[in-house]
Amino acid sequence: MKIIMLGAPGAGKGTQAEMISEKYGLPHISTGDIFRANIKNGTELGKEAKKYMDQGQLVPDELTVKILLDRVAQDDCKNGYVLDGFPRTIPQAEVLDAELTKLGDKVDFAINVDVPDDNIINRMSGRRACVSCGATYHVVFNPTKVEGVCDKCGANLILRDDDKPETVKNRLDVYHKQTQPLIDFYSKKGILKEVDGTVAMNEVFNAITAILG
Ligand code: ADP
Ligand code: ADP
Ligand code: ZN
Repeated sequence: MKIIMLGAPGAGKGTQAEMISEKYGLPHISTGDIFRANIKNGTELGKEAKKYMDQGQLVPDELTVKILLDRVAQDDCKNGYVLDGFPRTIPQAEVLDAELTKLGDKVDFAINVDVPDDNIINRMSGRRACVSCGATYHVVFNPTKVEGVCDKCGANLILRDDDKPETVKNRLDVYHKQTQPLIDFYSKKGILKEVDGTVAMNEVFNAITAILG
């Protein structure tokens, strides 16, 4: 099963992708996590991506597409995957489609986690990310057992630089201009599924499992 998570920054794509990954045994692939791992390791890719990420802009399609195609070509992706944060532009979606078509394959579901902009700003300031494993928490809605420490791996939690309110506003603008058109793109393909992302995490997940079966 191949699943795409759509939604604004902070809508809960990563949170839901992780739960889907566990329940259905599919790899959770986040292009944002791949970029952040490269930044942490000081790679050339990381240096290039950081320039855009710090501004709340998208990393250029050419670079992003290459990273993603390399990742989904790996062995663990044979039975499918959950994509979180890719595609984010129509050209990215078209390349993914073309590659899958070549393999006689297709995306099964594009799940749009719908959350209005007003809720997003609040959510992002409370988001905390693990510096080591990429797990995501929220100070109010999904706190860790020990404050500031990752439940999964014990590493420290941070507020991402790009989660500060000024950058979040840019990211929302970028989302509306460049990513939102994907809703129409997948709707026309007949695989778009909408879920209300404003309810509690478990309720969002119930709506998703009802779709995936
Ligand atoms: P969020 O959790 O807010 O959805 P991500 O971790 O998915 O954020 O992405 C963080 C940043 O990484 C984005 O603002 C963008 O700069 C870059 N990025 C991630 N995925 C993509 C993509 N598919 N295309 C271009 N840039 C991307
Ligand atoms: P995205 O990957 O779309 O950027 P995340 O999954 O990282 O979003 O979620 C953004 C923030 O909101 C995180 O701090 C997360 O713990 C929290 N969050 C996710 N889903 C919900 C929800 N249904 N209700 C409240 N907070 C949520
Ligand atoms: Zn961790």
